[in-house]
Amino acid sequence: HDFASLTLDPALQQGVQALGYTKMTPVQAGSLPAILAGRDLIAQAPTGSGKTAAFGLGLLHRLDPAQGATQALVLCPTRELADQVGKQLRKLAFAIPNLKLSILCGGMPLGPQLASLEHAPHVVVGTPGRIQELLRKRALNLSALRTLVFDEADRMLDMGFEEPIREIVGKTPKSRQGLLFSATFPEAVREISRGLLREPMEVTV
Ligand code: AMP
Repeated sequence: HDFASLTLDPALQQGVQALGYTKMTPVQAGSLPAILAGRDLIAQAPTGSGKTAAFGLGLLHRLDPAQGATQALVLCPTRELADQVGKQLRKLAFAIPNLKLSILCGGMPLGPQLASLEHAPHVVVGTPGRIQELLRKRALNLSALRTLVFDEADRMLDMGFEEPIREIVGKTPKSRQGLLFSATFPEAVREISRGLLREPMEVTV
């Protein structure tokens, strides 16, 4: 269960080392082989399980830094979580030259966010309402998206984000990889996952 056993590019192995990780957590060991192979995934993963590195390594692995387009989107329920996720992804990606990541959340001024989108960031982490707003303004384009992550899906639905989530998903290519993480699996999460994921691998810990 060492990270070294994964087929990860050297820059990401460096990122893992920089964070001081050696052994994979159970969520990482159970999901990373499928994620790196490009499969959709639905995982039962509470905070503290190491889910951020699981989807982070997946989306960074799939990304082409030479392509100047938004290739990965992580949807989070709150600004606090989006900030934490963004920070951890930046650390994992430190050895990828010129990688651009933007954190786009409600409750923050729009001006700097619009400016940060003038050159498309490779990775966007944000909350559904603000992402929907930026899509409607045509400031954000998801037509080249490769990976779409739903982090804490149960909390996003509790907070009433179902409608923006559906609109956002509709603006992404069918070829995207979908990864959904949730601490709990009420029927609402199961229901929305059916429209978002294709033959997902299921991981519980
Ligand atoms: P998360 O569940 O993604 O919020 O991660 C919880 C905490 O575990 C964070 O502080 C991570 O930096 C840390 N973490 C994630 N994966 C590993 C790992 N394989 N080994 C040690 N710490 C980890």
